[in-house]
Amino acid sequence: LNQPLRVLVTGGAGFIGSALVRQLIRETPHEVLNIDALTYAGNLSSLAEVDQSPRYRFAQADICDQEAIGALFAEFKPDIVTHLAAESHVDRSIDGPAAFIQTNIVGTFTMLSAALDYWRGLDAEAQARFRFHHISTDEVFGALGDEGYFTEETPYDPRSPYSASKAGSDHLVSAWHHTYGLPVVITNCSNNYGPYHFPEKLIPLMIIKCLAGETLPVYGQGTNVRDWLFVDDHAAALRAVFERGKVGESYMVGGNSERKNIDVVKTICATLDRLRPREDGKSYAEQISYVTDRPGHDFRYAIDATKLKTELGWQPRETFESGIEKTIDWYLQHEGWWQEILSGAYRGERLGVG
Ligand code: NAD
Repeated sequence: LNQPLRVLVTGGAGFIGSALVRQLIRETPHEVLNIDALTYAGNLSSLAEVDQSPRYRFAQADICDQEAIGALFAEFKPDIVTHLAAESHVDRSIDGPAAFIQTNIVGTFTMLSAALDYWRGLDAEAQARFRFHHISTDEVFGALGDEGYFTEETPYDPRSPYSASKAGSDHLVSAWHHTYGLPVVITNCSNNYGPYHFPEKLIPLMIIKCLAGETLPVYGQGTNVRDWLFVDDHAAALRAVFERGKVGESYMVGGNSERKNIDVVKTICATLDRLRPREDGKSYAEQISYVTDRPGHDFRYAIDATKLKTELGWQPRETFESGIEKTIDWYLQHEGWWQEILSGAYRGERLGVG
């Protein structure tokens, strides 16, 4: 099972992609080609630990660039494609949906076209080994009420420009399997958190705002519920699926850790109270402030990951409590990584976290 594979990762300089690349180099004999356009969300310093490995290569390219992507397929000759490159931030999709349509839909189409051309030229053995693994989100299924879980049978019902663009890409991947026979697998995962998470997302944003003494903006009453998964557990799930998943199938990935947003923020405050107490001795929870809700804010997402667990034997290692402690500890130890982003030093642009 631990046979070396050639894994082409798109979006490997992003949050989840870099966790996957680090894990592949650390824990498997696989070779990795990371293709990333290095948008505002891509950061090569998240890959410093693998940079010198002879099994790791980076190519800066846009997944919408058909010629560049075709040439990289021909040169690297992947056994596996794990497609993570995407525009990923819901709030940005509300303000500017065009980039989401371009990268998430047109980019996925370009990846599928290149993969199909390449796959058709392989011999039978290499064709049987090949997988196009599309990484998607539970947000494509819309919102749940207080009860119920998303499963592999849940109908699509995306509500935001982000989730609609991801749903579109899922359907394209599925169509390339049914129409052209491309061996695909799809995973739909809940919210990830962990080290190297871009500071515009809820958990790192709150940690950093706590430390800066700023108010902690919570949408609405903070009652929206998300399921949280530690990013290294997601990376392990991705490996299980591209190594052993059934062709043409999709798998739900979740952490069994449903939390109201306000409880996530309070957990962060309580953990920081312990690890890095405020100088005035008060709790960071004093900084919480409720702000106008996001338009179309989905109420609850929750995942039933039974199929992944029973068929492929995957289990998350972290609970929400152990994962959040590791994450906060990482942000405290790696201030240089996120300070560089906040100061805009690595992109040459300033980025507010608010
Ligand atoms: P991210 O925003 O941190 O990283 C995205 C990466 O893709 C960046 O490195 C960026 O430079 C790159 N990229 C963007 N546009 C590109 C283009 N046109 N060509 C090449 N590279 C491009 O995202 P993430 O949080 O790591 O998410 C990765 C994938 O997982 C996405 O497809 C996302 O939809 C999915 N997902 C994310 C979560 C989550 O909680 N973060 C949950 C479920 C699924």
